[in-house]
Amino acid sequence: MREEIEVRQPLIKIENLTKRYQGTTILSGLSFHLAPEEVLVIMGPSGIGKSTLLNILAKLMPYDEGHIEYAPHLFHGIAVPLPVIFQGTETLMPWMTVMQHLSLVAPNIEEAQARMILERVALWEHRFKKPSELSGGMKQRLAFARALACQSKVILMDEPFTGLDEALKESLYMLLKSVQRERGLSIILVTHDTREAEILGTRVLELKAAETLIEKMPAAER
Ligand code: ADP
Repeated sequence: MREEIEVRQPLIKIENLTKRYQGTTILSGLSFHLAPEEVLVIMGPSGIGKSTLLNILAKLMPYDEGHIEYAPHLFHGIAVPLPVIFQGTETLMPWMTVMQHLSLVAPNIEEAQARMILERVALWEHRFKKPSELSGGMKQRLAFARALACQSKVILMDEPFTGLDEALKESLYMLLKSVQRERGLSIILVTHDTREAEILGTRVLELKAAETLIEKMPAAER
């Protein structure tokens, strides 16, 4: 019974979060939560503070006021910060092979597990290649695979599909949905693509200039 109650608690609870850059307030008094197994989409115009918010949630950036509470079990077995997939592939390591990228985030990963993930993104046969030997789409799939290899229950995504061709986008949407369901992952996805939000999101929040989050559509059963 106790376990059941714990499972239903939010994984991340944000209360009255405020962030300023050199005196300019970017986020002011934000409050929302991330529930288990939901894909929370955060939308809003460019420059509104979406990436800032994600960086704060990943513990890559400090904030000025408010409180962020993480479920304690979130950090069992993973290195902080939480895994983030950024737009583009700049965060890949030029000197590391595909396999090394996975073992960097999951040092004890077994070969069978690595193989399962890499086969899902069609990179298993390229596992000994470095980023310079991969196409743009392959590098993007590697960024995905690396985040999926983390044992984290939460993955943060900052416009990970921007600039990809339609076919690759569709295949990554499907991959993300199936892995999310299989592993019961919770995802915060920043995007400005309404269709992407509809396909992937179970809840959509819009960051407004008034510095409040508006819930755009109710949690859907997906
Ligand atoms: P979004 O992701 O919604 O496009 P960002 O979070 O990247 O927005 O940026 C929000 C605002 O904060 C923008 O006006 C941006 O210029 C500013 N900003 C972002 N990073 C910094 C920084 N390191 N120092 C100062 N201002 C910043």
